[in-house]
Amino acid sequence: MREALERQRRYLVPGIGVYYKQPLTLVSGQGCHVQDDQGKSYLDFFGGILTVSVGHCHPVVTQAITQQAATLVHTSTLYLSEPMIDLAEYLAKITPGALSQSFFTTSGTEANETALVMAQLATGRNEVVALRHSYSGRSQVTMGLTGQGAWKLGGSGMGLPIRHTHNPYCYRCPFGKTPDRCGLECARDMDDFIKTSTSGRLAAFIAEPIQGVGGFITPPPAFFQEAVGIARKYGALFIDDEVQTGFGRTGKPFGINHYGVEPDIMTFAKGMANGMPVGATIATPDVARHYQGPTISTFGGNPVVMQAALATLQVMEQEQLTERAATLGRILRSGLEQLADEYPVMGDVRGMGLMQGIEIVEKDKAPAAELAEEILELAKDRGLLLGLGGLYHNVLRIAPPLTVSDEEVNEALTVLRDVMSALYQAHPGLVAVESTRIVYQ
Ligand code: PMP
Repeated sequence: MREALERQRRYLVPGIGVYYKQPLTLVSGQGCHVQDDQGKSYLDFFGGILTVSVGHCHPVVTQAITQQAATLVHTSTLYLSEPMIDLAEYLAKITPGALSQSFFTTSGTEANETALVMAQLATGRNEVVALRHSYSGRSQVTMGLTGQGAWKLGGSGMGLPIRHTHNPYCYRCPFGKTPDRCGLECARDMDDFIKTSTSGRLAAFIAEPIQGVGGFITPPPAFFQEAVGIARKYGALFIDDEVQTGFGRTGKPFGINHYGVEPDIMTFAKGMANGMPVGATIATPDVARHYQGPTISTFGGNPVVMQAALATLQVMEQEQLTERAATLGRILRSGLEQLADEYPVMGDVRGMGLMQGIEIVEKDKAPAAELAEEILELAKDRGLLLGLGGLYHNVLRIAPPLTVSDEEVNEALTVLRDVMSALYQAHPGLVAVESTRIVYQ
């Protein structure tokens, strides 16, 4: 492992962020488990950042990949390719409303770039409203869309006509409200915000149904109806970024299904192909007809990746993983809430389905990034992999493969209980932290 770390430092750019004081080298995986190069096994509750959706090396996906790889690996977009057309047809069937025309790429970043280009071509405008704490990728344009300074690389993308309005961060409501007194002030403020901070002629409003990198910030039920309604008054198309929330993760097919809004454009990546590099942008025919080209890449739609995605989505359907995410999500959530009752440094528990976040705080909700990192390390030592996120780097992100079993969820909760007990023992002062949890409607 040490040798790998030294070689990584020598031959890869330093900007690649690596988890853990002693970074892990993972060499194999099956289902919800991965193994490191020392033979130690871990329960993987982050799934390569919500990418391993149907479990590591699912045999159906593996077979689809190997079969296609042995037949034809690449054609480029210059030729027709049935796997790509099949996947586009499938997406048209399962996405809301009139969404029906897709373009494939190799990452979520490119999917969002494509979405923005589509919106600009369809509206003839280029001003965009995004939410604070959002994350859209790390190319120039998507860093501009991202609403977290830490991901902007020295100001890249900030010259673009993109403005960031308040996000629905109920635990730290920018309007000082609690869910029981919420009047959707954050969404309503968008009207004034657009009038004061833009020309009022918008190309797009882009948002994630649950803010992923932002720390699983989960909008209240009426947020998107209100916010999208306001944005559309100013001509904006609604771009729904489902890179983290798509394909069953939240207990419904797409995150936006919880909010009853039909997007004009949706973007996908990550869990769609169980770890193969994929991105997709789907639009209504009304929007897509303006995208006459040139398209953003010649490489997306690669048949191996398309077969991986088709197999992944087939597994999700056959194993009814969306429904499982809802059921197991409830078990996970209630276990986490019990833990938070006992350990109030778990200040907020939020999310939907198998996408649950825990905001770690000290007294009076002070963000506790160092404690969150310590929890990550303690969990790893006990064989459990979790994620971190949030503008203040203090949110634990929990998102196992959707194939996780009841036993594995309970095992993870048992490990977390042990972790929290060890944390409180190591920091006796933490007993003074009182609960700051809020009750969601
Ligand atoms: N959108 C969201 C919501 C994401 O979480 C990410 C990745 N974390 C992206 C876009 C960018 O995807 P990729 O890393 O595949 O470029």
